[in-house]
Formats: sequence, structure tokens, C-alpha cells
Amino acid sequence: MSDIGMVIIGAGMAGARAVIALRAGDYKGSITLIGEESFLPYDRPPLSKAAISAEEAPAPALLLDDDQLRSLDATFIRNAKALKLDVNAKTVTLSTGISVAYEKLLIATGAKPRKLNLEGGEHALLLRDFGDAEVLREAFKPNKKVVIIGGGFIGLELAASANKLGCDVTLIEAQPRILMRGVPEAIAKTVHEKHITQGVKLLTGTGLTKLEKHAVHLADGRVIAADVIIAGIGAAPEVSLASEAGLTIDNGIFCDAHLRTSDPHIYAAGDCCNFPHGHFTDKRTRLEAWRSASDQANTATENMLGGSKVHNAIPWFWSDQFDLTLQIAGMGDQATKTVRRQLSAESFIIFHLTNEDRLVGASGIGPGNSIARDVRLAEMLIAKNINPSISDLADANIQLKTFLKS
Ligand code: FAD
Ligand code: NAP
Repeated sequence: MSDIGMVIIGAGMAGARAVIALRAGDYKGSITLIGEESFLPYDRPPLSKAAISAEEAPAPALLLDDDQLRSLDATFIRNAKALKLDVNAKTVTLSTGISVAYEKLLIATGAKPRKLNLEGGEHALLLRDFGDAEVLREAFKPNKKVVIIGGGFIGLELAASANKLGCDVTLIEAQPRILMRGVPEAIAKTVHEKHITQGVKLLTGTGLTKLEKHAVHLADGRVIAADVIIAGIGAAPEVSLASEAGLTIDNGIFCDAHLRTSDPHIYAAGDCCNFPHGHFTDKRTRLEAWRSASDQANTATENMLGGSKVHNAIPWFWSDQFDLTLQIAGMGDQATKTVRRQLSAESFIIFHLTNEDRLVGASGIGPGNSIARDVRLAEMLIAKNINPSISDLADANIQLKTFLKS
């Protein structure tokens, strides 16, 4: 067995999945996973949900534990930031001083939260890792005034968690509505109403002028008192290592349809990866979602092992807020029209279609698991390029699985 094998930088969802997929692909050589955090690889989705609001003190939800790493015969180097990538020597130098040689490299460095770029912006806490979640959990005591900036997924999920803990929550979104990008208006409206009903104050269409430690100043002159301020204003791909090594960067690490970077020995996967999507007319995209990170790790590792797979897994993600679950499959931004299917009084799906009535996306919302099955079936229709008529999509009496069979 050669000592120089597969090296993976970044021990998040994509990195952990890549270790499993390499062995599942019958790779017999060495696998080294490098992570800058102190924990074993863990999952991020609970960080805005159960890690904040569950009664018991949270522990990281591990993606790989010591036993699994041992049985996969993988070396995990933690507390080690990859500082320099030498694409000619095919080595990575770590903050611990050691240098690791690779045959093929996967960059899975994820994303980092955007900071508020205005006066006093440093007073806003951010959420990306387990330590950040612990800080927020400690701060979210009953009756504390929590002000959240940004009506995206982090902001809304944290608002629901803080509300559940008895905090007095205000959420501020600069756009005219929450979830402005990528979420249909009808679904955003349902989420908005749920937050209001639960007692969250939602201020939309208002910008900020400055922050103080205990106050948020709005552009319209209002000042909101705060014990804790949090910004959830989006994430930027973590590309510094790749960029300094000379790899092509364009809203993420620029990859081809096989998730190969501009260097033939280096691949990328997850939040840091920009690629042309095989199913959606080669539209370039960068996805920030849990299952996409896993799917991309599967594609990248298959190709690291000599395959030639085009990445065409249908994107899918979810968000849990209060008793509601929202799920989105496909790429609704490719659509020009929508069709609504009402599943029950509280649950519905919006289908996204192109001008030619091609089904490209499905977005659903409802309590608990009420929309999961239909969004899954819609995802299968999208993957198989099956395009039911608009009237059939709208008719909840016709089960979606009928179209798969036909
Ligand atoms: P990450 O999980 O960010 O992992 C990257 C890892 O690389 C990190 O551990 C980082 O420290 C490490 N790293 C970076 N640079 C270096 C370096 N130079 N050297 C060594 N290590 C390095 N998605 C959903 O679909 N549904 C959800 O409900 C959901 N909830 C979320 C909640 C939160 C709070 C967050 C932050 C994200 C959530 N997501 C959710 C998104 C999902 O978690 C991400 O898309 C996914 O984690 C991306 O995986 P990744 O491996 O690309 O990156
Ligand atoms: P996000 O979903 O991109 O939302 C950021 C929101 O903040 C957007 O609505 C954005 O509006 C708004 N915003 C930006 N600048 C602002 C400002 N100055 N003032 C007020 N609002 C502002 O990003 P996020 O919620 O911060 O999440 C960060 C990362 O975690 C992403 O990768 C996300 O996918 C991931 N995450 C995912 C989930 C999930 O999928 N369920 C849950 C939590 C976290 P504009 O559109 O105008 O920029």
C-alpha cells in the first residue's frame, strides 16, 4: 500500500462523506482527513436547532467517530489548518508544521459566515461551528432581548429556537420579505405568519445604520434594545487555500462537471465548490446545503478513483422552524411559472416549471413530515425528466407516484 494516497481538507459533511465513499469505492490506499476544528467530524444542521433549544446540554452530532475512522482505516488529523497547497510538489502544509503529500486531493473547506460591514458590526455574533452554538445557547436565557439580523435560514431557525427558550426575539430583514432568494413567496408568507403567531417580531424592508453593544439602529430611525445581537446574513465560500495555490476561483472553487478543479489532481465538494450542474442545462451553481455536500463528495471521490461521473444529483434541502418543515428540491430559479398543489389545510407544494412546462423544482411546507413524501416524489420526477401537465400537478387527488409509473 502506497503512503501517498487520498487527502481530504475539511472535516465537515463533504469531507466525512468522502472518506466513507472512497472506501465504498474499494479504494485500498491511504486516506488522510485534515480538519482545523478540535472535534471529530460533526453535523452543522443541529447547530441552529436542537443544539440551541434542546433541554439537555448539546454534544456535537458526529458524522464519524473513532471506531468508524479506525474501521475505515483513515487517518484523521484535527486541530490542523491547511495553510499552503503546493500543486507542483503535490503537498499540503499544515499549521502543525507537518507536510502531507497526496496522489489526489479533495478540497472540502465549506463556507464562512459573512460579517456585518457597518459601524459596530463586531457586536453581532455569528453561527457556523459548535463553539458558536454553545455561546448562543448560553446567551438565550428567558426574557433576554435577542435581535437577529437577516431573514434567511440561520436567522429564522435561530429566531424559532430563541423564542422556544423564552427570549424576546426581533428579526430584521432588509428585503421586502423574508427568504427572498430561492423560496416562493407563498412559503415565505407561511413562515412569516408562523413566527408572528409565536411572538417573534419581524421587521422587513428596513436597513441598519449602526450597532452598539446593546442597541441596533435602523435606517428609519428606530432603535431596538438588545441583550444579544446575531447576524445571519449569508456565507462566503472558504477558498483562500485554493486561491493562494493558483486554482481558478469564481464564486467558489471553479470545477468542471466532474467536480475537478483547474488542477487535474484536485477536486472540490460542498459549500466551497462551484460547478456546472449536469441536470439543469449546465447552469453554474454553488450550493450551500447538507445533502448536496454529501452528494458532491460521492461524485468527486468516484472521479478521484478514475471515474468520469457528471454531477447531476438533484439539489434538496430542508429547514425546520417551530412545527413547520420546509423542503425544496431542484432549481426553482430556472422556472418562469409556478403551480400550487394543496395537500391539506396547512400543507402545500409549489411546483416550478419552465416556459416549456419542464418541471425544474418543487418547494413544500407543512407541519412535521406532511410534505416530505411528495417533495421526494417530485424530486424523482425532476430527475427522470417526467413533466406532468399543469392541471395534473395542481390536482392533489392524483398521486404523484402515478406519473412515475407511467
Ligand atoms: P462544512 O460543513 O462547513 O465543513 C468544512 C470544514 O472544513 C469545517 O470544519 C472547517 O473548519 C474546515 N476547514 C476550512 N478550511 C480549512 C483548512 N484550511 N484546513 C483545515 N480545515 C479547514 N443545510 C440543510 O440542507 N438543512 C439545514 O437544516 C441546515 N442547517 C444548517 C445550520 C447551520 C447552523 C449551518 C451553519 C448550516 C446548515 N446547513 C443546512 C448547511 C449545511 O450544514 C452545509 O451545507 C454543509 O455543512 C456543508 O458541508 P461542507 O463539508 O461543504 O462544509
Ligand atoms: P442566507 O440563507 O443566504 O440568508 C441571509 C439573509 O440575510 C438573506 O435574506 C439576506 O438578504 C439577508 N441579509 C444580507 N445582508 C443583510 C443586511 N445587511 N441586513 C439585513 N439582512 C441582510 O444565509 P444564512 O441564513 O446566513 O445562512 C448561512 C449559511 O448557513 C448558508 O450556507 C445556509 O445555507 C446555511 N444554513 C442553512 C440552513 C438550511 O438550509 N435549513 C439553516 C441554517 C443555515 P439578501 O438576499 O438580500 O442578501
